Amino acid sequence: MSGFLGDKSKKIVHHLANKKSACDIYHIDMKDREYFSPDTLDNAKSKYYETCKFCIN
Ligand SMILES: [Zn+2]
Repeated sequence: MSGFLGDKSKKIVHHLANKKSACDIYHIDMKDREYFSPDTLDNAKSKYYETCKFCIN
């Protein structure tokens, strides 16, 4: 199970363990999904992702 999922089209990263219905992650296209290695928020931010306002404070 991954901790974080990136939406490449919007450049927003979600925290899967804390996901909300407002995140709407099931509508992210498969080709737009990015998983991180290492699976950390800092790594996502280093790839210029913004944090989701619903699942990451
Ligand atoms: Zn989210």
